[in-house]
Amino acid sequence: MAYLQFLGAAGTVTGSKYLINTRNDISGKQGMQVLVDCGLFQGPKEWRLRNWEDTPVPARNIDAVILTHAHLDHCGWLPRLVKEGFRGPIYATPATIDLCSVILPDSGHLQEEEARFHNQKRSSKHHPALPLYTLQEAEDCLKSFQAIGFEEEKKLGPELSFRFVHAGHILGSCMVEAFLSTNGRSRKLLFSGDIGRVPLLPSSPGRVVEAGPDSNEDPDLLVMESTYGNRVHPRDDVRPQLAKIINDTVHRGGSIVVPAFAVERTQKFLFLLKELMESNQIPRIPVFADSPMAIKAVEIFLKHIGECSDEAQQLVRKYGSPLNWEEFHFAPKQDDSKKINEVRYPCIIVSSSGMVTGGRILHHLMLRLPDPRNQVLFIGFQAPGTRGEIIKNGEKSVRIFSDPIPIRAQVTALEQFSDHADTEELLFWLKTFKKKPETTFLVHGEPEAASQLQTAISTRMGWNVKIAHWLDKIPLD
Ligand SMILES: [Zn+2]
Repeated sequence: MAYLQFLGAAGTVTGSKYLINTRNDISGKQGMQVLVDCGLFQGPKEWRLRNWEDTPVPARNIDAVILTHAHLDHCGWLPRLVKEGFRGPIYATPATIDLCSVILPDSGHLQEEEARFHNQKRSSKHHPALPLYTLQEAEDCLKSFQAIGFEEEKKLGPELSFRFVHAGHILGSCMVEAFLSTNGRSRKLLFSGDIGRVPLLPSSPGRVVEAGPDSNEDPDLLVMESTYGNRVHPRDDVRPQLAKIINDTVHRGGSIVVPAFAVERTQKFLFLLKELMESNQIPRIPVFADSPMAIKAVEIFLKHIGECSDEAQQLVRKYGSPLNWEEFHFAPKQDDSKKINEVRYPCIIVSSSGMVTGGRILHHLMLRLPDPRNQVLFIGFQAPGTRGEIIKNGEKSVRIFSDPIPIRAQVTALEQFSDHADTEELLFWLKTFKKKPETTFLVHGEPEAASQLQTAISTRMGWNVKIAHWLDKIPLD
């Protein structure tokens, strides 16, 4: 029996992993087993523990992985899959491969650091605590990547082929159209991956990728994300608000500290700052992008600038590489990063990690949080329990490197920067479909978001919508 099985991102937003099994004999000798995405579980411990479990089918029996994009919750388990014995190809778009070559080794490095931390503190019940995978193992897994362009059909075997279409989520992101023919029956499966903002209004600034999500889909079975299945993002142009925050802070002699994920979110923000500076909406103060990954990501953006938004392309055409923009300073070395501490006049510091869980942002906040002239600006999601959430929620102090740091700086969160479509945008995209899928499975959402989206799609469009559950098997014959 051919089947689809949800190995992750079912009941939660992380760990995306869906197995297509075309084997129809019990010996398992015929057919193929292919994973769409191979993401890391993140967040609450009950989910993270699943990173340590084997896949239900042995990794060595999986023939290939098809990857939608380079976020860790979609690609971060790949080094572990290879470590467990997977030897097949990993298919991805060229930009996704470039981004993975930065993101996966960094993840390996963080896994090693975490293990080291637990060993020092003896805070794990395992002795010694081991990393899920190492930096070296992450680098080794990059050798298995094979580039496939958008809309190029790739045949994996007589019964299975696929192609990538645009998702509009981050650079290189795609949806996977899989074509399955088993037992004399052909079916088209569409895996949405993460779906980017659908421009409902002409003035939706800040999108870094140009194309997607592609319309006119016609799958028999749809596997769709539901991250914002119960939310609507603000529709207003973020630029005037952002300019006001920066101008007010500069006026009182303060600096703006922006925790941001080094890949995509940082680049999107830098492009926006340049646009505001060139149109004289904000003063030309120094901007420090303090993250080694951010520099590599800028280079990847330039390499794939043809996939970027018109605004981003125009800025690069007019002003060249962001790495050479006059007011913009990239701090690759630890020493350069420390020098930013000496800057006493207004400046903008963009640094990671985006949820203040670690990284160089910690020492910037330690120094600047106690001064009421400064501004902390959040442009990304802050997960419960993170330092980012504590600061965002208006607490009086936050613990950094075991010291309580008083929070006297102004704190603002702008919600317009999301890379995920909201409920209205998802429904708008579904309305472009050429036909109703027989079944739509909702994945990649917290239970409340998935359930509200299920109701919205079934009542407003009359579709047959189900919520995916972890390890559920769906027959495909
Ligand atoms: Zn994503």
